[in-house]
Parts: sequence; structure tokens; C-alpha cells
Amino acid sequence: MTCVYVLTGILGLCVGSFLNVVIYRVPIGMSLAKPDSHCPKCGYKLRWYDNIPVLSYLILGAKCRSCRARISPRYMLVEILNALLWLLCAYLFWQRSIVYAAISMIVLSTLICIFFIDLAHMLIFDRFTLTVLVMGLCATFFDPSTKGYEHLIGALAAGGLFLAIYYIAIWVLDKEGLGFGDVKLAFAAGLLLGWKKMLFALLLASVAASIVLLILRKRRGDDTDKEYPFGPFLAGGFALSLLFGDTVIRFYLSMFSL
Ligand SMILES: [Zn+2]
Repeated sequence: MTCVYVLTGILGLCVGSFLNVVIYRVPIGMSLAKPDSHCPKCGYKLRWYDNIPVLSYLILGAKCRSCRARISPRYMLVEILNALLWLLCAYLFWQRSIVYAAISMIVLSTLICIFFIDLAHMLIFDRFTLTVLVMGLCATFFDPSTKGYEHLIGALAAGGLFLAIYYIAIWVLDKEGLGFGDVKLAFAAGLLLGWKKMLFALLLASVAASIVLLILRKRRGDDTDKEYPFGPFLAGGFALSLLFGDTVIRFYLSMFSL
């Protein structure tokens, strides 16, 4: 297993580095393939040694080699986060199902993109939701802990719930309380997680959102009309439930000796 962990960690860092490109380029409509990575300030083209995950960032002191413009710590954060999540997938799922471990890794990387893009742009792009949906379809066959029909129930219940909230908000508040992107993502994630883990994910997302919004409103004055994206909370809840949902649900049920 040591070999698996080392490889997973290194690959996780490299994919994390690619996720940075995705997070930066997709919202502004840039191609992922061309041009090569460059400094957005001075246009300096990054060489291979400027592109080594984490190391280049630390060696260059978080600055562009050419114009010394500051590089956001988000780049290193995304690389480390992706590697850590991949290692957790390997640790938790590898020995039960390698396919499911791989599905989880792809989903978590996608959720990282959704998290950071929705945070900055209040948009959930369909291509990410579609990735979660396809992986959800695979999970109905390969999830070692949840049966196929439980995945289908998860998709219908979560999608239905969010669709209802979406229309009720328009009806009552006369505006979108949720984005339609959230509805589509809830359907895809419900398929991926199955209804039990989906419930846990929604609980995490709504508790976290309530706490964070309460703090933000207190600190920034009572600007209740300001809109905040819900996607980052959803993505965080899905990720945690994907990794730890089974354990938490088993523990919860065992308290009632079910
Ligand atoms: Zn530069």
C-alpha cells in the first residue's frame, strides 16, 4: 500500500496543479490547452521548473519569476487539498474497490473546481455537474456500501427537493433563492451518494451555510439582500459525506442498535 500512497500523493499534486488551470480558465472562457501557462500580469511563459506543484511556489516565494507579481496562495492550497483528498480516497476505498476509489478521486477533484469557481463567480458550469452525474452512474454499480436503487432514490429525492425549493422561492420571494445550477448539482450528487449519504451531505451543507452566513451578516452589517453562492457549501458537504458518510451513518444507526 505504501507504493499506492506515494503514487497517489504525487499524482494528486499534479492533477491539483491542472485544476488550478481549470479554475482560472473555464470561467473566462479560455481554452485549457492553449496558450501555455503564463503570468497574467507580465505574460512570462512558465518553464517546467516553474510548474512543479507546491515546490515552485515555495522556491519563488509566491511571486512571478519575471515581474515579481504576487501569486495567490490558492494555487498551492488547491494542489495540497487535491492530494490530501486523493490520499483519503486511497486509504478509505482502495482495498474495498479500486474502481470506487478512482470514482471518488474524480468526483472530489470536480468538487474542488465547483467550490472555487462558484465562490468567485457564482456559477456552476454544466461540464462539472455532468462529470458528477457520469461518476454517479458508475457509482450505482461500483459503490461497495450502497445499493443501486438507493442511488436512484438519492437522485430523485435530492433533485426533486431542490427543484421544489427553486420554484417555491420564485413563487414566494419573486426571485431565485437557489441557482438552477444548484438543482442540477443536487440531482447528480444524489445519484452519486445515494439517499442516506445525500441526507448527511445536505445536513452538513445547510448547517455550515447558516453559520457562515450568520457570521458574514454580523460582520458586514445587515445587508440581507446581498447574495451568496450555495454551491461551495454543497460541494463541501458532498465531499465530506462521500468520504465519511458511511462511517457516520453506521455510527448513528448503531446508537439505536439498528
Ligand atoms: Zn509576471
